[in-house]
Amino acid sequence: MLLSSDWLKHHAHTRPDKIALIEPERQVTYAELWRMTKTRAAQLAGLDIGAGDRVAALMPNRIALVTLQAACALRGAVFVPLNHRLAPVELAAVIEDADPAVMFYEMRTATLAFEAALSSAVMLIDADVPLDDSVTHMVADTLASPTDAPAGPETPALIVYTSGSTGTPRGAVHTHANLLWNHAQFLQELPFGADDINYAAAPMFHVAGLNVLTWPLLLAGGTSILVPSFQPDLALAHIRDSGATCAFMVPTMWRALLDSLSKAEADSGLAQSMGKFKGGVVGGAPCPPELIRAWAEHDVTLMQGYGMTEAGPMATLLGPRDAVEHAGSVGVPGEFVDVRIVDDEGRDVAPGEAGELILRGPNVMKGYWRNPQATARALRCGWFHSGDIARQDADGRYTIVGRRRDMIITGGENVYPAEVERVLGQMPGVAEAAVFGVDDDFWGEQVCCAVVPEEDDAGDEISLEAIVAFCSQSLARYKCPRRLFVVDELPRNGAGKVLRDELRSLPDIGTF
Ligand code: AMP
Ligand code: MG
Ligand code: MG
Repeated sequence: MLLSSDWLKHHAHTRPDKIALIEPERQVTYAELWRMTKTRAAQLAGLDIGAGDRVAALMPNRIALVTLQAACALRGAVFVPLNHRLAPVELAAVIEDADPAVMFYEMRTATLAFEAALSSAVMLIDADVPLDDSVTHMVADTLASPTDAPAGPETPALIVYTSGSTGTPRGAVHTHANLLWNHAQFLQELPFGADDINYAAAPMFHVAGLNVLTWPLLLAGGTSILVPSFQPDLALAHIRDSGATCAFMVPTMWRALLDSLSKAEADSGLAQSMGKFKGGVVGGAPCPPELIRAWAEHDVTLMQGYGMTEAGPMATLLGPRDAVEHAGSVGVPGEFVDVRIVDDEGRDVAPGEAGELILRGPNVMKGYWRNPQATARALRCGWFHSGDIARQDADGRYTIVGRRRDMIITGGENVYPAEVERVLGQMPGVAEAAVFGVDDDFWGEQVCCAVVPEEDDAGDEISLEAIVAFCSQSLARYKCPRRLFVVDELPRNGAGKVLRDELRSLPDIGTF
């Protein structure tokens, strides 16, 4: 009973009428979810998709994502959810790397799917086209005759893309066992289970949206409300009226929801109820302790989780007992995760000192898809090197204090300066550019750029609007700079490396 499809089948028998998933236009019971999964698996079988084949999905949060993932498990295929916020060229690079046999899309992602897949051999399928009778009749046959190499614990189940420090896509390969270990740890540490209703608004193309609450609750027999696009104003009423009890969100989403709660209270002059909503997990980026304390005043408990795509994402969690009292800490490792803090030579630092956080556990990925070099750098002697700087406090809890790489996290989305700089370097009128993050109350960090204009281009002033227009042709909107600083030269050290710390003080100096 190790595969995601096994869990759905089990619940279809033990709790057939329980609501499993809710989306805006429909809701499905576990019995229906299992039937839809079998139908989708039959469709895959008809396309001759089986062991090891990649099946990509380009969709906002929807029931079809869940049935497709479970159908892949039935076929021994590997599910690859794709980020629909990427620009077509970025997505094309991911498709080339994943090399999927098919890509499922829907109405809202159709244009992007066709643009991104232009130069690839991938077959495109509309997830909403009703499957005809021939497919439905195949269901019995498909399940009676297992694929030649049925999936097992060590078979790849899922590839989730994250970008490398240069902006090149990397797919973290998770086996079926990796996923089960991740879900089991969350169910063990979090006060949520079969009776809970999860408000799933964080995108399911990231591991956190998929695996912090949504799949753990499917394993437990609980319910998730799949929200295709998060709108803080609507979310407040939606959470209250739907009886949602929990959620995973990145700090910016929790902040936006709190802002609409405060606004609703100010407008009405009345304290607003959050209904049955108890709280959930905040993670994906550093969370200000004030945000956790502010939610606690509304009897909503935010537990800070720390993790990453490669860990699926469970690494550490500040559990319900400590969530508010120790706000700011990321808590302790999941029960099956080992964590160490090491120096540049890989030696354990003295207790309380800062160093790189490394981890291992049965939930940590097997490696990066078709990228042995990156895998060897990230996974050394079985330990995943996070690139995050942390320390262990005297009471055993961990605190994240920084990052080794230049990665910016804005609204929970990772942005590597190198990928934005590469695009800016191609912009007419730009001689040189450096990209860096500055702290921001709402976004966590904001992407900023310092640009040295080309001298002969003095006539055309470089503007932020022009930069965004240029960058958004080849970068996701969230990667485009929000602030521009025009400078005469970039601060560099003796070796010619750009000094980002000096750039980060530009907003204070107010140089333009
Ligand atoms: P991703 O692979 O997109 O999930 O990004 C993982 C990275 O996000 C980690 O390596 C951290 O740098 C950052 N991160 C995730 N959760 C937290 C947290 N609770 N506090 C600070 N940084 C976090
Ligand atoms: Mg992230
Ligand atoms: Mg140029």
